[in-house]
Amino acid sequence: MREVISIQIGQCGTQIGNSCWELYLLEHGINLDGSRKTDAQQVESGRGSSVGQGTSDNDAHTFFMEAGNGKQVPRCIFVDLEPSVIDSVRTGATRYLYHPEQLISGKEDAANNFARGRYSIGKDVLDRVTTRLQKIVEQCDGLQGFLIFNSMGGGTGSGFTSLLMESLSNDFSKKCKLNFGVYPSPKVSTAVVEPYNALLTTHSTMEHADCVFMVDNEAIYDICKSKLGVDRPAYNNLNRLIAQIVSSTTASLRFSGSMNVDLNEFQTNLVPFPRIHFPLVAYAPLMSADRAAHEQHAITTLTNACFESSNMMVKCDPRAGKFMACCMLFRGDVVPKDVNAAISAIKSKRHIQFVDWCPTGFKIGINYEKPAFVQDGDLAPTSRACCMLSNTTAISVAFSNLAYKYDLMFKKRAFVHWYVGEGMEEGEFNEAREDIAVLERDFNEVGLNNDEEDDEEYAEF
Ligand code: GDP
Repeated sequence: MREVISIQIGQCGTQIGNSCWELYLLEHGINLDGSRKTDAQQVESGRGSSVGQGTSDNDAHTFFMEAGNGKQVPRCIFVDLEPSVIDSVRTGATRYLYHPEQLISGKEDAANNFARGRYSIGKDVLDRVTTRLQKIVEQCDGLQGFLIFNSMGGGTGSGFTSLLMESLSNDFSKKCKLNFGVYPSPKVSTAVVEPYNALLTTHSTMEHADCVFMVDNEAIYDICKSKLGVDRPAYNNLNRLIAQIVSSTTASLRFSGSMNVDLNEFQTNLVPFPRIHFPLVAYAPLMSADRAAHEQHAITTLTNACFESSNMMVKCDPRAGKFMACCMLFRGDVVPKDVNAAISAIKSKRHIQFVDWCPTGFKIGINYEKPAFVQDGDLAPTSRACCMLSNTTAISVAFSNLAYKYDLMFKKRAFVHWYVGEGMEEGEFNEAREDIAVLERDFNEVGLNNDEEDDEEYAEF
């Protein structure tokens, strides 16, 4: 049994969590109150037993615990330092789904301040979270690891996440911790100090997270607008797209497939050095129903689309970087022969460059379960999909952009007093900045081919 526990932190983490559970319920044939769908309800939801080839009662076990009365209870915790967002879960459509103790909120918010989330008010909530977490862990037979959802720019999402990750590292050092983090972006941003928070949290979680899947709201916003035909995308639209990615990433743990890739396996293939753990996520097909009806969704088309910058969840140009590894996770009616042909074609494209020290480059996963789609969602229902997790040097631009904004404010020590006032030392700002500079250098270095590195060493000599 391979259980996974989700931890949804702050407003952003909570709202993304809501979208994820909405999708998992559909995928596993579970009602909003945790009861299993009857056959008739399954057919009504478009997920009749003949549709999901790999679906069985057991599949839900990764994400759901079965209570004494047969109800399925999500293996998760929602946590926020202020009550309003979690209150809306307590009173919303899924109010009977969760155990009340899984929904943890404090009284005061983190006021967009990393230091409040980590050093002052966050500390008061930590005990409640770890105690509940321990209970959920006890209900697992073979815990695989944790999925952590948060924004990097919010006060709770940055500060409390870093505090909790440290605690998870101490208590569950052997379990993997995968982080889905929303990075700040100019268009959908809510606070001036987000670059501070994001950079401080990247630094303080660096050694605790095994993999950080960054999601840039601007990239997703553009996908919703230009590919999915949503005129004014709201968080709900963004979150449903993120949920689809999370679902693809974890499908292998939940459904059967001919080449299933589990969490540890894809990490082994994706992370060549411990610090280079920020895979870029791409998804295909990304289209609205009116377009999808006229497309074939051939494996080659999906594969090629995953290498287009417009299908990526972080604004960056993959052509400007080099790939170290690609993990292609296919879902639905996909056969290895077609995948191999598509990958060979990709390898022959000149604009897709790989570092020379990682010659094989591709890890393939095929899962039989076709993707599920919520009824009023923006994504067109399709019978197959591909989610690509790639480790590419191109993603380092996200850090340079962040560092640039950080420097502009920090040169003037603007807003720093708010952080110091919550018990943080000013030196932590410098340390974090230096760490990100080192990370940028790390990315440059891994992008060098073996012969280029020799040349550099020779030149230095
Ligand atoms: P926190 O509760 O203190 O962690 O603060 P937030 O989670 O509201 O963090 C603010 C950042 O998260 C901003 O960059 C927002 O654009 C982003 N954000 C807030 N809510 C959502 C959401 O539901 N979805 C997405 N994708 N981003 C969000």
